[in-house]
Parts: sequence; C-alpha cells; structure tokens
Amino acid sequence: MSNPGTVSAVKGFRDVLPDESRRWRVLEDAAESVFGRYGFGEVRLPVLERTELFARSLGETTDIVEKEMYSFADRDETLVTLRPEATAGVVRAYLEGGLVQADPTARLFYRGPMFRRERPQRGRYRQFYQIGVEVLGRDDALVDAELLVMLDRYLTEVGTRDVRLELNSLGDATCRPVYRERLREFGTAHLAALCPDCHRRLEKNPLRILDCKVEGCRRVVADAPVMLDSLCAACRTHFDEVRRLLDQEGIAYGVNPRLVRGLDYYCRTAFELIGAGLGAQNAVGGGGRYDGLVAALGGPDVPGVGFALGVERLAMVTPGAEAVAAGPMAVVLPLDARGVGPALRIATRLRDQHVAVGLEPAGRSLKALLRAADRRRARLAVIIGDDELQAGRATVRDLARHEDRRHALPLDAPGPELATAVRALAEGGS
Ligand code: AMP
Repeated sequence: MSNPGTVSAVKGFRDVLPDESRRWRVLEDAAESVFGRYGFGEVRLPVLERTELFARSLGETTDIVEKEMYSFADRDETLVTLRPEATAGVVRAYLEGGLVQADPTARLFYRGPMFRRERPQRGRYRQFYQIGVEVLGRDDALVDAELLVMLDRYLTEVGTRDVRLELNSLGDATCRPVYRERLREFGTAHLAALCPDCHRRLEKNPLRILDCKVEGCRRVVADAPVMLDSLCAACRTHFDEVRRLLDQEGIAYGVNPRLVRGLDYYCRTAFELIGAGLGAQNAVGGGGRYDGLVAALGGPDVPGVGFALGVERLAMVTPGAEAVAAGPMAVVLPLDARGVGPALRIATRLRDQHVAVGLEPAGRSLKALLRAADRRRARLAVIIGDDELQAGRATVRDLARHEDRRHALPLDAPGPELATAVRALAEGGS
C-alpha cells in the first residue's frame, strides 16, 4: 500500500502547541484578573455570524469587508461569515441578550479566534487570537482614560516590553465630514502620486488614504491635513480631557495625528499599541470609540469604546510569558510487566492528590526509563522493580541531585500519605 502522506494545515492557519498554549494562558488569566478588577465580565461569542453583521458594522469599504472575510452560503442559503473581529458580535449580543435594558453600561471582555484572509507572514495569520474589551453606554472621556490605564496595568502585570501607545482623535459626525472633504480635495490635488487603491478610497472613504502602505502614498500623505486640526469644540474638549487624565496617571503615549483605525465606525478617541521590534506587523493592539455602531446595528443610540490585543503578537513582546513549563513532580517507572499495576495505582493516587505525575511503559532498561523521566523535566523518578515489589516499597531517585532513596515510598499507602512523602522528597527532604 502506498503511503498517502500527511495532511497539512490550511495556509495561514496554525496550531498552538502546549508550550505556546501555556504562555497564552498566562496572558489570558492575567486579562481575566486585571479586567475583572475594572468590572469586566466575560462573553463567549459564536465564531460564525451573519455576513450582514459585518457588512453593516465594519463599513462596506474597509479592507476586511472588501477582501478578507471568510464568507459562504450555509445550506439554507443564509450568508454567514467567520468573524474577522469581535466588536460587532459583542454589540449584537448586548442587544440580543437584553443587556441593553438590564445593564446599559455593560463592560464585556472576550477572547478567542478571529479570521481574516490576509497574506500570511510573520505575526500575521488567517486565524489569529484576540483578547478584547468593550464598554457600552458611556461617552465620557473618563472611561476612555480608564481603559487606557487598565491596558497599561495589564501590560505591566504580564511583563510586556518595548511597546508604545499612540493616540489620536478621529472627530465625530459634526467635524469628520468637513475634514473628510478637506482630505478629499487634498488627495484630488495629488491624484497622480496616489496608488489605484487610494483613487478608489478618495471617492468612497478618503480617511483610508492615511494608512495606505504604498511608499508613494505615504510621501503624499505626510503633508495632508490632519483631523486633529479640524476637531469641533466638543471633540477637542473630549480629546484634551483624555490626555489630561492620562497625564495625571502618568501613562506614557504619543499623539499620532495620522493614526486611523481600519474600521469606519470609530470616532473620537483612537489608539494603537505598537511593538518596537516586531517589523512590518507591529500593531500589538488597537482600539477606540465607536459611538455610532450600536445604532448602526439597529439598537438605540448607545456609545461604545474598547480595544483588542492580538495574542500572537502580545506573546512576542512579553518575555515573562516565555517561562518554560515545569515538568511533573514525579515520573513512575515500572521496570517490567509486574510493576505496571502498582505503577498505575501509585500514579493515580498521587494525581488524585493534585500531584502532577508522569507514567512510563514497562519493558525498557532502567537507564532508558530514567532518560525518559529527565526528558519530561521531572523532579523525581519513582522506580518499581523486582526488589521494590518484594519490599512493597518503591525506590525514589532525585533526578536533580542524582541521589537514590531506596524503598522510600510504600506502594500501598493511601493517597494523602503518598503525596506528603513525594512532596517532601521533591523538596529534598526525606
Ligand atoms: P484590529 O482589529 O485590526 O485593530 O486588530 C487588533 C489586533 O489584532 C492587532 O493589533 C493585531 O495585534 C491583531 N491582528 C489583527 N489581524 C491579525 C492577523 N491577521 N494576524 C495576527 N494578528 C492580527
């Protein structure tokens, strides 16, 4: 029979193996704990939503909706999409789950996979993970500042390094249309130097020319008018207040007047977290205010603000989360078939007592078994050979100190006694 070969993962989709997973858990657990202190509760949302949800919330002219969504017709012809981001889903859940009546100022956090059909490269995948938060029902500068303080505390707690916060204001329904026209006039005057994509953007959504990656466009845009110079009085007051509160709390940030967020519904406060050493895909997270979104999705006129962090990239700039996993406290080694039953019994009793224990199959030399225990980074080896079976007591080897304690562990002792003995041996006692 010919070997059919292995099946690889789909391009841009990757596995998160146990070592990486463990690091992610550190990031997720800290998020739950820090965000919890700020009053956030977790929502678990479906990964599949109606396509319409994203078409209505993200804006028809965003890159995501235009070319990056995984959309298909379900068997009943419903058009569905693997979520490219979670804000729209959070808002849908807030409306559909009745939170809007019960708790109009909801604070929600989420974690989970997102899907975008982008060109895969380092730090960019087609399935990637986000941790994010949304506050609904608050339009004050205080809550914007509070979110950024929380983000700062979270990053400090997990030990993130070399990131900087960039801040901007995108204006609102009063001042942005005026600015948009100024920008369109500017772009039209420099049409020849702009890429074909930007020609299209100028017509549909001129703000998007500000984050075009094409070199020629970047040169033109460097001299473009900026939103910050066109803010209306209310937006100016809001922005100044956010900055004042951040300064009061000593949160470092830079104002980047060219920062725009990819999605249409952002207004006023917008920010991005940039990782210094990350290369092209250097945005570790981003967020901002989206006061029109809830209404755009059919709800009442409720404002919102939030952010999302990319877990893959966050892990890259968080060395603390690199800590190697500790191995099991002990690995039980039956030397031959007769030791198998007692080995399982001892392992099960220790595991019942919350001791992490490995268990190796019988039939290899002691040397090979000890090598296996070392590979697992175990602290102790519990050896069950003929001699031990006869004595009714296992020999325990301290793998770090290379010391044997012959017949140290009674094979038939109850779990708590075994656990106490193993813990003491692992500490180096008797
Ligand atoms: P966005 O909603 O586009 O602002 O994304 C928020 C964060 O998610 C970004 O700052 C990245 O850290 C992360 N992210 C977005 N797209 C991808 C991707 N294709 N692969 C990996 N991470 C991503």
